[in-house]
This record gives sequence, structure tokens and C-alpha cells, in this order.
Amino acid sequence: MLAYTYIKKGEFRLEEKQKPHILSSRDAVVRVTLASICTSDLHIKRGAVPRAVPGITVGHEMVGVVEEVGSAVHNVSIGDRVCVNVETFCGECWFCRRGYVNNCTDKDGGWALGCRIDGGQAEYVRVPFADTGLTKIPDGVSDERALFTGDILATGYWAVKIAEAEQGDSILVIGAGPVGLCAAACARLKNPSKIIICEKSAARRAFAKRYIPEAEVVSPEDMPELIKNLPRGGADCVLECGGTVQSFQAAWKYARPNAVVVIAALYEEAMLLPLPDMYGKNLTFKTGGVDGCDCAEILRLISEDKIDLSPLITHTFPLSEADAAYSLFESGKDGVLKIALRP
Ligand SMILES: [Zn+2]
Ligand SMILES: [Zn+2]
Repeated sequence: MLAYTYIKKGEFRLEEKQKPHILSSRDAVVRVTLASICTSDLHIKRGAVPRAVPGITVGHEMVGVVEEVGSAVHNVSIGDRVCVNVETFCGECWFCRRGYVNNCTDKDGGWALGCRIDGGQAEYVRVPFADTGLTKIPDGVSDERALFTGDILATGYWAVKIAEAEQGDSILVIGAGPVGLCAAACARLKNPSKIIICEKSAARRAFAKRYIPEAEVVSPEDMPELIKNLPRGGADCVLECGGTVQSFQAAWKYARPNAVVVIAALYEEAMLLPLPDMYGKNLTFKTGGVDGCDCAEILRLISEDKIDLSPLITHTFPLSEADAAYSLFESGKDGVLKIALRP
């Protein structure tokens, strides 16, 4: 089968590999019907994910059809349409029992797919702990609408959840890339008084405005003025999805005192936390990565038309043209937000 593979720092390549089979009784094999390219894949390519293992198939956001199940798998059956969670987790360890599945202590726990073990930019993928890592897609929900459930949408949903957002809050989302848009789409579900989206790219601001019309979509230059007019001197919740030095600084500056600041972004360098400057603001920082254990709830919300991230798919390529798809994604040209790969 075709599998897009991490060769070494700076190089991914389409390779011919053996179709995967079940290795443990809790595994399933999924025939991938749609996969996506994620910014985290570029982090791997740039060598910024030390845990990533050269030789593995990349891809950690995909949907497909169950092809094979191990004898201990009970929640999914052969033929089920499923979305694959970015995280594989045992469901039984100290962390899993508390919902902190990103820190599952099993060797295959956490973000393993497309990082430490073969992922889903391929025709087939083996998923360990299939009972927790696969979620059935409700009838009537297309692959395109379900595609982001396991990773970026899970991240947006989790960010809003741990931000402890309440009805009537002002929620600031920094960065209108794919994760920021997912976070803003989930922020909507909380009935906030205001959603503010701060984004430096004019093209992305325009997209965000179309996608979430009720949001106030502004450039970083407009933020100081806007924040001055908020009732409590800053946003009640901040969701930092920008991933840059500037966006990190904006996250704590534009939070009101005693706010929760959720750092959903994945940085490629250390960030400076200027504690003397923020002394007295009494902020709570919560940092990523996602605990992706709400996929069933997210798919329910999708099936009820409360969330639809499919407009983020700006381009679709056959898997055989993954090189071209990555070139476009890395260039940021042609209004690209998310690319779907079809095996
Ligand atoms: Zn990702
Ligand atoms: Zn676990």
C-alpha cells in the first residue's frame, strides 16, 4: 500500500509498505477513506518533534472503515465507519481514568499515531486500543464533516472545556488557523457574550469573519483598543492557538485578571513567561496537548449541525499526490487552510 513516510529531518516521501495487520487483541485495522495534513506534520518534518521516529507513516487525523478487529475489541465492528483519535490510550491507567489520556502511560499511549507508530496518510492504519481510539461516525455525517474530530476539533473542544468558559463570557481566540477556527466554533456552544478572534493575516481574518459571522475579527494592532472597552479589563477566557512569540505574549496581556489562559498551540521554541510584568494578574495557565476523549460528544454535535468544520477543507488531493499537497500546505498559498488526502 502507499504510505507517506517520515524519512529524516526535512524529508517525507511516498513509499510502498506492507498493509498493516493486528498485533494485539485490542488493535483494529482501518481502511482510510480520508486523511488530512496537520501543522503538526510540518513540525515533524522540520525536526521539531523529538519523539517522532524516522520511517513511520505520518498522519494522525483520519476517518475510514474498520477492516479487521482484534478479539478484545468490543465497541467497533468490521464495516463500521469510524473517526480515528489522534491519541491512543489504554483507558485504564491513572491518567486515563481521570480523562488525561494524552499522558496515558502505556508505551502506545498519547500521540503515537503518525509520530511514534505508523499513522494514517496511507491506505490502511493499525490503531492500538481500538475501543478508545475509534469512534463510530453517526449515519448521515460525511467523511469531510467527521475528518477533524480526532485532532484539531478535539483540540478546540478541549481548549474551551478546560478554559472553564461560562455563558456570557468574552472568549478571545488568538490565531485563525485551523485550530483557532475549531476553538472558535466550539466557543460558540457556550453562548458567550463575545467571541474575539485575533489574527495577523488579512486573508485568514476574512475567512474567519465568513465562517463565524458573529465574532469580532481583528488584527493584533486593533487589540489594545478593543481590550480597553471590555468590562473587566480583558477577556474572560483566552485560547492561544497562534503558536508564535507574539501570540503567546498577547495571550497573557489580553486576559483579564484571574482568567484562564489555555495554550493550545505547539511552539517550536521556548516561550518567555515574564512573571514580574504579570504579577498581580493571578492568571491560570493550562497547556496542551489535547486530551482527546470527547470524540463521541463532538460527533453528536456535528450530527446535530451544531458544529461543521468541513468548510476548512480548502483542497483535496489523492494520496498519490501527497508531495504536491504538502508543497501547497507549506507554502500557505491559494488560501489553503486544510488539505484532505484521499487514498
Ligand atoms: Zn495534528
Ligand atoms: Zn492509559
